[in-house]
Amino acid sequence: MRLISLFYFFIIILFTSCPPAPAVVDNDNGQHAEEVVTDLPPVISPEEIEKRIEREKARREAKAPRNVILMIGDGMGVSQITAGLYSNGNKLQLERFPVLGLHKSYSGDNLVTDSAAGATAFSAGVKTYNGAIGVGMDTMPVETILESAEAKGMASGLVATSSIVHATPASFIAHNPYRKNYEAIATDFMDTEFDLLIGGGKKFFDRRETDERDLSQELRNKGYVVSSYFDEEIEDFKPEPGSNFAYFTADGEPLPYAQGRRYLETATQLAIKHLDEKGGERGFFLTIEGSQIDWGGHANESEYIISEMLEFDRAVGQALDFAEKDGNTLVIVTADHETGGYAINNGSKMGKIEPGFSSDYHTADLIPVFAYGPGQSLFSGIYENTAIYARMMDLLFLNRSDR
Ligand code: MG
Ligand code: ZN
Repeated sequence: MRLISLFYFFIIILFTSCPPAPAVVDNDNGQHAEEVVTDLPPVISPEEIEKRIEREKARREAKAPRNVILMIGDGMGVSQITAGLYSNGNKLQLERFPVLGLHKSYSGDNLVTDSAAGATAFSAGVKTYNGAIGVGMDTMPVETILESAEAKGMASGLVATSSIVHATPASFIAHNPYRKNYEAIATDFMDTEFDLLIGGGKKFFDRRETDERDLSQELRNKGYVVSSYFDEEIEDFKPEPGSNFAYFTADGEPLPYAQGRRYLETATQLAIKHLDEKGGERGFFLTIEGSQIDWGGHANESEYIISEMLEFDRAVGQALDFAEKDGNTLVIVTADHETGGYAINNGSKMGKIEPGFSSDYHTADLIPVFAYGPGQSLFSGIYENTAIYARMMDLLFLNRSDR
């Protein structure tokens, strides 16, 4: 037993220490591994190694990114960005981006999208109905880019300042006809070997009302480190390099920034560092959401919008700092839609916005897209929100697998 474990340990060291041969792959190495250990990565087949070498070669020739960081400011239209800019000494991290485009945010059944359909356009490349999480107009599941990335051996992660089962992050990993089915959505997280998640919604995993399952325990059984605000501050949370983890920032929805929530920058740095170490040559796909810019819009509260937007902008700066050093990372920043019909009215001054609102819901405005890194030029122009999915998939040499 111990000898067999040592043997697999040796195999793993061999593959992880000799790039570009990657570490984690399809399970086809026979019965012993399954009998002896359940939490070690399976051994790679020679065909798989060959395929990965080919993919890495193609990537280098095409000057395509190894990693993609998609950052979504929920409800962040041009006015939200402008208000953040003029409330912050006329300076934003977003100004560092060399390429800008605009996307058409409408959904499959409404010119005004909601966050579920808006995120599903980015995650799965389909225009679907408002309320749909990772499913098409027919309510059937559509594989997401995060799932395709995992299927190809990339590392993956989700970070949000809402609960992690809320529409935007959920649409990258779950498939549900209706966004409010939070516990069912949490269950879907069990089907994909995501590498990390940071967000609220602990109760939907470990204190469920619709069944007796404890998904936090199920994650631990699969080898995940599971921690939360209840156990330790995120600054003190130090997951082992190479581990998979879930860190819950709240039982339900995290507080607004103005009420003391501060984790988005820390989480962004932690997630990028962890995924970079873990993905290595195989790369990573990470989605980071500034969730509550939207909630400020729904509440028609200008200060709420601005504080959330500026925190998100600082997180964008963290991602750009990494991408500049790394040289292999594409950072895309966009929003699913605008919220509030927010306007910066006459009488506004630098540092003091006089806001106006035309709605307490979303609007159909064109939405800015910012891109930096290999492949950035593909994001200039005006295009459908679903094109963001298609371009990310192309740049990462990903295809939908037959799951
Ligand atoms: Mg959202
Ligand atoms: Zn909203």
